[in-house]
Amino acid sequence: HVGYVAEVIRKETVRSYLQPREANTHKHAAGNVLVIAGSSGKLGAALLTARSSLRSGAGLVTIGTWPDAAQALQSRVVEIMTTAIEPERLDESVEAALAGRHAVAIGPGLGLDDRARTVVDHVVLGWDGLKVVDADALTHFVGRPEALARASGSLVLTPHPGELGRLLGRSGSAIEQDRFGAVREAVQITRAIVVLKGARTIIATPDGRIYVCMAGNPALATAGSGDVLTGIIAAFACTMALDCAAIAGVLIHALAADAWRLVTGADRGMQASEIAERFPGLIAAL
Ligand code: AMP
Ligand code: MG
Repeated sequence: HVGYVAEVIRKETVRSYLQPREANTHKHAAGNVLVIAGSSGKLGAALLTARSSLRSGAGLVTIGTWPDAAQALQSRVVEIMTTAIEPERLDESVEAALAGRHAVAIGPGLGLDDRARTVVDHVVLGWDGLKVVDADALTHFVGRPEALARASGSLVLTPHPGELGRLLGRSGSAIEQDRFGAVREAVQITRAIVVLKGARTIIATPDGRIYVCMAGNPALATAGSGDVLTGIIAAFACTMALDCAAIAGVLIHALAADAWRLVTGADRGMQASEIAERFPGLIAAL
């Protein structure tokens, strides 16, 4: 790709972002993540994101979701807390859910209805914090991607080619034909850090840096895989700069799939819930 200077993400670089924990670390210092995700029939997306944040070292993880989803999740979670976002008092319950969070992951399985749009606008545009914006939360900005440039706080966007295509008003295959051009255009419009997923994920920053991940393999092409990426970036954002969190999250997520392929010999059949289970060992081995 003539004209684009992309830096390959190296393990040594990511290792330098991950400091050993202090002996007296407590859970509040390790990161307090809110995952705004899930809806009826899509509870798994919220669970995958939240579990990924825990496996990435976040000290506290809470899922904020619709009352019925929160109730259904409660019987399935142990280490993860839940909080209901009440459709009758959306702004109030979202504000309550946001209190004290270091980072928010928003979008997986959240839905595309009006109540979801209200929550997405409140959090993505209005909350002055660190946010990873994925999946349905990105889709709420179709037709108005420039609104993201006026968001409070700092954003990482994690679109797959189809999602970025919708945001930029073209097809996913058009994105695939010029991935570097597309990701740079997305940064120019949104002023966010943009992670364009797919084989050789690209990360572009508003100050013009571009990183490419050479790790990972087609075993990652499975339902929920992107939700796990959202969770690791949100957790890392609690303890490192947001661009570093995106870079480190992308690499470790990809390395988890490479480790799975090495052990099984397979290029398919991995389940998304198996990805994050490898994070602690991979972080230790970096
Ligand atoms: P999503 O489509 O949101 O579930 O995200 C899919 C995740 O899997 C992203 O992190 C992609 O980069 C990764 N992925 C999907 N397909 C491949 C592939 N063929 N090679 C490497 N990574 C992939
Ligand atoms: Mg996804």
